[in-house]
Amino acid sequence: MKTFSFNFAAIATLTIALAAGLAACGDDDSGGNGNGNGGDVEKDGTYNPNGEITRIDVADICPDANHPHVIDLGFGTKWACCNLGASRPEQGGDYFAWGETEPRTVDDYAYKYGDLTECQYIGDDISGTQYDAAKAQWGAQWCMPSLAEYRLLLRRCTFAAALMEGEMGLLATGTNGKKIFLPMAGTLPFSYPGEGWYWTSTVNDHENGTRAYVLAFDAMETDWHVGAYRVNGLTIRAISK
Ligand SMILES: [Zn+2]
Repeated sequence: MKTFSFNFAAIATLTIALAAGLAACGDDDSGGNGNGNGGDVEKDGTYNPNGEITRIDVADICPDANHPHVIDLGFGTKWACCNLGASRPEQGGDYFAWGETEPRTVDDYAYKYGDLTECQYIGDDISGTQYDAAKAQWGAQWCMPSLAEYRLLLRRCTFAAALMEGEMGLLATGTNGKKIFLPMAGTLPFSYPGEGWYWTSTVNDHENGTRAYVLAFDAMETDWHVGAYRVNGLTIRAISK
């Protein structure tokens, strides 16, 4: 990763590139390879080499103000229009440690299931379980997306860096033209406002399972093969069953 290797160097304790770990995670979720922009994203992560910013309104994504909406992007998975804890698509919402179902704050950092070096095993995939924050917060219709579901998103969507109501985010446009906007809401406690860090429901079983997979991005690149330590507070974008 070009841009990310610079940006993420300062938060080495948070993240590590885990390309080698992917093989253990099961492949193939979409059956599609190299399908235009999606394939390019998976290949090198660069979606916006020229640094262009698209302006977008909530009305371009949602039919009314009753968020969260279910957005069908045209390839099977239905995504929420906004983050857990957010009342509008451009808001970052709440930050969760992986497997915790209540939001955490800057001042409260005793992770329920371990620490940086050792974590309790709570499952290879916590989507739909008692550890799923989306299910706990929004009800059984909702769940956390797995690594496979994020990989499918990257393969099938086209991407733009976008500005909505003054907030930067990643705009994903599905095969049917529908869109979701993922704010660059950073993390807790490190707080990187120019980057988005979203949990998948999939644990990374290297290093005692202290990490889980994430989708990370900034205004130029996405990075889907990065794991974050489970103790950190990241944002969550739910999917609908
Ligand atoms: Zn909405």
